[in-house]
Order: sequence, then structure tokens, then C-alpha cells
Amino acid sequence: MLSKNKVIRLALDDVDSPTYGCTTFSLSLIINQLIEEKVKFLDYPHLVRLNPNIPWKTRGNGSVSLTVEHDDPEHIFRIAKKIVYKSYVEADKKSTPAIVLFYGQDLNDELISFSEEALYKVLSVKRAKLLLEKYNFLYKTYGGEIGLVGALSGLSNTLTEHTYEIICYRYPENYLKPRKIDPYSIIEMSNKTYPYTYNNYDPLTNRILITPHGPDPIFFGIRGLFPKILVKAFNMLKMEEKPSHYVIFKTNQGTNSHLKTLFKIKDIKPYYSVKVRGKVKTRPIIKEGGHVFFLLEDESSNITCAAYEPTKSFRKIILNLRPADIIEVGGGIRPPTKKDNMTLNIEYLKVLELAEDLSYENPKCSKCGRHMKSIGKGKGFKCDKCKIKSTTANKIAIKNPRNIKHDIYLPPPSAHRHLTKPLQYYRIDLTKNFLLEKNLFFKSFK
Ligand SMILES: [Zn+2]
Repeated sequence: MLSKNKVIRLALDDVDSPTYGCTTFSLSLIINQLIEEKVKFLDYPHLVRLNPNIPWKTRGNGSVSLTVEHDDPEHIFRIAKKIVYKSYVEADKKSTPAIVLFYGQDLNDELISFSEEALYKVLSVKRAKLLLEKYNFLYKTYGGEIGLVGALSGLSNTLTEHTYEIICYRYPENYLKPRKIDPYSIIEMSNKTYPYTYNNYDPLTNRILITPHGPDPIFFGIRGLFPKILVKAFNMLKMEEKPSHYVIFKTNQGTNSHLKTLFKIKDIKPYYSVKVRGKVKTRPIIKEGGHVFFLLEDESSNITCAAYEPTKSFRKIILNLRPADIIEVGGGIRPPTKKDNMTLNIEYLKVLELAEDLSYENPKCSKCGRHMKSIGKGKGFKCDKCKIKSTTANKIAIKNPRNIKHDIYLPPPSAHRHLTKPLQYYRIDLTKNFLLEKNLFFKSFK
């Protein structure tokens, strides 16, 4: 029987700077060392994406953690500090890494609610530190303490709904070179593993999505529903560059976990990620830059909603909304600027009720059947040809066809956030757990 006193949770955040390193990579080095020391892992390593709308996030706003069984928390902490400090120095001390370690206790409600709020709100370092002290965490920061919020949230997230990602890393000598991987093998893998992997490439824009573009240690990452399919997908790729190692993470990516909380519009604040239900107040319009905007109202207030240019074809769907439609939207809140009000950047649209889309035309002449002309407001209509006048005729309402259904709509994959739930996963149970099989979640090619 496993004693809970031996359970150690360790999390990292902000090991990356805008130009160097990667938090998941540092964790992969820690995992490598723990495996060499034959330490027992109790779950897949976790990759927790936090509120994507926080402006001071590092690239992906992702925190990583692992859970192991061990007698000596100080030993695990020392290994983490050594590896993270090395990366901090290599990043010219431009990053602000944080390491937190929790041991000898189960996660409690206070920690879990902190992690849940970190998915959609803006939390303070002060609050994180109070919890770290209260529950006797070991923790260490370099260059600043901002990473404590993410590290604590990552460690405390139970990942009830989750997917997996296999992340493959490069040898350092390749960091500055282009990633060599046959694009056709990626497309073939994607087709053969659908829907068990997702967002490998965007057929609409023909863009490969599994490879990042910067000089970082990640070769590529494949996302999907369970670990075994990811190993299979990995083996289908034709790589012309030797991979260094891979890690399979359990993650909240693809679960919309940042958009679970329904907000009244009056309670919305800048940088939050929110879900709102309301009535379309104004007909959507295209503005400069190709961005589409409309007003949404609920019983408390109203807010501008936007589908920005990068969401491409999604904007055409938004343009089909009409006043009085009842919808639900989820998305991030942009603060007001000199030009614009606070704006909800739509990540998904759910149409709940469609209103009638009416337009009005002038009545027809009783003699010749042509449309009559208005004489003036409230003065009636007149036929130009027959010279017939009518003061009792009214404009005729025409019911326009609606080019939108009761359905869920998303921007194309290239505009998705890490957390965006792909359309094909709305009907899949994402709470299923998969047993941690030895030698499945980590592989070194050295
Ligand atoms: Zn006429």
C-alpha cells in the first residue's frame, strides 16, 4: 500500500524566456534524471495551460508538473533546482522560473480552487505565496516571483477533463536549423489517426501545426485522446532529423477548461476568459482590418464581441448573426483602448435560438403589380406608372432565409488556442484515465 507521505508533486513555470528555453523541456530533463535513478512515477507528467488571455504570460502560459513516490522531498527538489538554474543561466537570466514542491498531503479544496481560478482569472503572487506557506511547500524562484502563480496552479490542477500530447525534443546543435520532417507523412498520420489525434495541420490554410517555428528545444508535438495513439502517430512520421527524446504529457489542452464559468456581462473584467449567454443586440459589421464586431446583451449589461481577421472563415459565420438571436460565446476579454470598448474575442459560438430575419419592402400596386414608391413618411405610397395612390398600404415584411443553424461554430484550427476544444471532441468523454504504463511516457533516443 502506498503511503501518502511518500507522494511528491513538483511543478515548474516560467523557465522559458521570449527567446530561449522551454518549461516542458526542463521538466523532461528532470524526468530523465529521475528515471535513471529508478524513481517511481505515479501519473503521466502534467502540462496545464492557464488563462491564455493574461498579457504577461510567457509564450504558451503552460505550467508542468510530475507526481512521484519518494522518501526524500529535498532530494527531488535539489535535482529540480539544479536543472532549472542551469536553464536560467543559459537564458541570460531573462526568465523568471519558479519551482514548487508539495509532499506528504493530499491536494485540498483551497489549492484546487486556486488552480481552477487560474484558468480564467488574473491571480496575485501574494495569494499564491500565502498558500505555499500555509501548506508547507518547498519553493524557489529565480529573477522574480511571478512564476509561482502558474507553478502552484499547475501542481494543484487535477485534470479531470484531459487529453494527451507527445512532445518530442531536439538535440541542441539543431536548435537554429529548420525542422526536418516530411510534411506528407504528417498529413498521412493526421488522416489515419483522426479523430484520435487533432490539429496536426489546418487543411483550410494548408499549414502544418505540430511544429513550432522558434529556436526552441521542441521538435514537434502531437495532440490526441490517449497515450498509445500518440506513440503510433509518432512512429508514422518521417523525420530527417534525429530526435533527442520525447515525453507524453496529460494535459487540459483541447478541453475548453478556461471557458467553464458562465459570467454575467457586468461581472466581466479585462484579461478574463469567460462564457456568456445573451441576445445579439446589433447586426455584425466588418471594420477596418477585416475584423467583425457586434454587441451582445444580457439582463445585466452589454459587451462588444469580435471575430478578428486571423479567424478567417469564422467571420462569415458571425456575419450571419442577427439582432435577437440567442447565443452563447466563449472567449478572452481585451481591455478597452482609446478606440475600442472592452471586447470579447470569440473562441467559440453556440447558437441557441434563431430570431426571424425580416426585411421590408414597399407594397405592390393593385393594378399593375409593381412596387409603389413612398410619398413621404406616413403619407402613403404611389405607383409611378398607374398614378394610383394608397394611404392605407403598409410596407411588406419579407422573411429572409437564415444561413446559420442551432449548432456550435469554431474558428479554423490555425486560430485555436492550446485550450480550444476541437469540434470533434464536444461529444467525447474527456474524463477517462489511462493507466501509466512503464516506458510509455518517456523515451530517449540517445
Ligand atoms: Zn401600377
